[in-house]
Amino acid sequence: MDQIKSYYLSSGISEQVYDLFAEAEEQLSERFRTIDQIAEINQLKVLRAMQEAGFAEAHLSGTTGYGYNDDGRDALEKIYAKVFRTEDALVRQQITCGTHALAVALAGNLRPGDEIFSPVGRVYDTLEGVIGVRETPGSLAEFGITFSKCDLKADGSFDYDAIRAGINEHTKIIEIQRSKGYDVRPSLSVAEIGELIAFCHGIKEDLIILVDNCYGEFVDVIEPSEVGADLVVGSLIKNPGGGLAPIGGYICGKKAYVEQAAYRLTTPGLGKEVGASLGVTRQLAQGLFFAPTVTAAAEKGAILAAYVYEKLGFVAVPTADEARNDIIQAVTFGKPELIKAFCEGIQAAAPVDSFVTPVPWAMPGYDSEVIMAAGAFVSGASIELSADAPMKEPYAVYFQGGLTYPHAKYGIMMSLQKMVEKGLVMC
Ligand SMILES: *Cc1c(COP(=O)(O)O)cnc(C)c1O
Repeated sequence: MDQIKSYYLSSGISEQVYDLFAEAEEQLSERFRTIDQIAEINQLKVLRAMQEAGFAEAHLSGTTGYGYNDDGRDALEKIYAKVFRTEDALVRQQITCGTHALAVALAGNLRPGDEIFSPVGRVYDTLEGVIGVRETPGSLAEFGITFSKCDLKADGSFDYDAIRAGINEHTKIIEIQRSKGYDVRPSLSVAEIGELIAFCHGIKEDLIILVDNCYGEFVDVIEPSEVGADLVVGSLIKNPGGGLAPIGGYICGKKAYVEQAAYRLTTPGLGKEVGASLGVTRQLAQGLFFAPTVTAAAEKGAILAAYVYEKLGFVAVPTADEARNDIIQAVTFGKPELIKAFCEGIQAAAPVDSFVTPVPWAMPGYDSEVIMAAGAFVSGASIELSADAPMKEPYAVYFQGGLTYPHAKYGIMMSLQKMVEKGLVMC
């Protein structure tokens, strides 16, 4: 028996589970190679951006107080602008999360009477509160900003007629969510987003196209900002933070729009000039440096899980051989015991809080109980291996992340191991 196998067997994995995964990895080797090549290109892209921006040791120290002349912060923003091929970038730890980044980008660029239009269906759950789709104190709706949307067609394609009809004289921002998030529609490729943007700009040239890029960064070798998006927005505790960013968000895009966002994040008149980096620049920059390979690790883990669970008869979205546009993987298990066992396995494989047993709870904002597994270095960081599942039909688990491929693999092995131990699955 080889050394690696005996290591797994002494780490709580049974022989059948090990063998199943070994076989899966063999089948997936070509696919994994393609992902590694994407990571390689993106690694060079990030590296070159750092070099071209003249990133220096002196940039790593940071400022306090107002943060005037924070050269490290400014250099990091230059690097982000180069990576996303945009005129400017706002990359700050004062942006508390992805929702906040999106809220700042929206509120900064909208004025009373303006409308947001989503051509790809519902917006992310938390954004419904920001926009006021769901009545929420302080929402954009309270400032006279309206929202409308149209859904994708049943086959997942864009409903161009509905989009043309949905854009009117008040429409100011088109919000395109790249990842399906926890919705059932497919995630969008950068190429598809490009087609959609061209169509929207063709209807009305001065529309601001904002792409919610959460979970999509570095999955492809180009970003939506390279196919016409005016703003791309995301969270640093997802892909681009590489697991090292302890907090933060980014807004990259046209200079004028980034500036408006900065006036909202800090204050009119001050904008990007203030915002001390407090010594966090090192983690944000180092995280970005790791992001391409971390994203690849998460993606490979997702594909491995899709392959194994499909093999066992469950439905994976996307499937193991489908093209991927984000790092989220859904698997439908159909039974509450199975999603519980899945989450227990992910938790048991975590570096932090591995001794905790996840239990379903009534999370605010959800219409059913939710079970979650996460044992992360950065609280709530979904670039780290994590899973959650609403306790309702069709009993599907959504999971993502994995800072390293071996960890993602072990977590998924443990998820199956728990099911096998409870006699819920035979393999
Ligand atoms: C995670 C996510 C958000 C919100 O980010 P938070 O950091 O959780 O606030 C918005 N949109 C999409 C598609 C996401 O995946």
